[in-house]
Amino acid sequence: MTDAKIIDGTLFSATLRERIQAQVRDMRDLHHVTPGLAVVLVGEDPASQVYVRTKNKRALEVGMKSFEHTLPADASEHHVLNLIEGLNDDPEVHGILVQLPLPRHIDSQKVIETIRPDKDVDGFHPTNVGRLASGGQAMVPCTPLGCAMLLKDHLGDMKGMNAIVVGRSNIVGKPMVQLLLRENCTVTIAHSQTRDLAAECRRADILVAAVGRPEMIRGDWIKPGATVIDVGINRITLPDGAKKLVGDVCFAEAVKVAGAITPVPGGVGPMTIAVLLRNTLVAASRLHRLPVPEAEGLV
Ligand code: NDP
Repeated sequence: MTDAKIIDGTLFSATLRERIQAQVRDMRDLHHVTPGLAVVLVGEDPASQVYVRTKNKRALEVGMKSFEHTLPADASEHHVLNLIEGLNDDPEVHGILVQLPLPRHIDSQKVIETIRPDKDVDGFHPTNVGRLASGGQAMVPCTPLGCAMLLKDHLGDMKGMNAIVVGRSNIVGKPMVQLLLRENCTVTIAHSQTRDLAAECRRADILVAAVGRPEMIRGDWIKPGATVIDVGINRITLPDGAKKLVGDVCFAEAVKVAGAITPVPGGVGPMTIAVLLRNTLVAASRLHRLPVPEAEGLV
């Protein structure tokens, strides 16, 4: 059997960002609207600082306005909520993202629920969660929407396929299930209490792994020819002390069995920020009642 096709998220996301750049240019030239993304960071977590810097850089690259708000780690919840209320009312801001996790003294759910749903480019507000589940016009969380775009691009029609999502988090697993349902897949959602996970996985034509456990999903769990989307990003230390990023799927084994697979890095990872920009463009379009760019017919 030949090795699986590698689904190249770096290439796909670069093409998506180019398309967004052209759409942002048109929006500015034809309608005098420049989409604006506000990113709020509380504290000095180095990984979060890198994410925020990258998000702002990418927003500027596609011609959007970028507003970075960094608050000290001991900022009060009241301070954060006030900032968000200001951004909700700011006409230059179309998308608001609060970098998670927040310091423990701040109630994340309260913060998420303070963001106006039509500016909630992360898609975590209960209004957007409900709309996604009930088939309405939602802001869809970036990582699962990125996964769905890669799947659609590779598979086209997914009607009737058996899909499994391993992991049931609010930011990846649950919205992923909704997107696969919208594509008329028959969906299983697995988690830490699932019995015989390997057997469940073996039935799936589409396997999405969002677990956070390095290389947990083995090659012999995968149905021959299946499409595998690996969301996991795990930093491991090799016996020689070197550090390496690996996914939740054992790539070396899975690539021998699957029909197509996303690598880590270079698969789902780069999609997340590209979809964030896409969501910001969608938010700006909806807020100004302009034609909304479609997401490969997905949402
Ligand atoms: P969470 O920790 O929030 O959720 C993990 C899920 O995996 C839970 O539902 C948990 O089950 C399930 N799980 C844990 N252990 C097992 C097991 N042994 N068998 C079956 N299921 C198990 O993680 P996230 O959803 O936030 O992230 C998942 C992975 O995706 C991480 O590696 C993260 O770094 C990565 N990620 C990557 C992104 C990207 O841009 N590419 C963005 C977001 C996340 P239970 O609910 O029962 O506890």
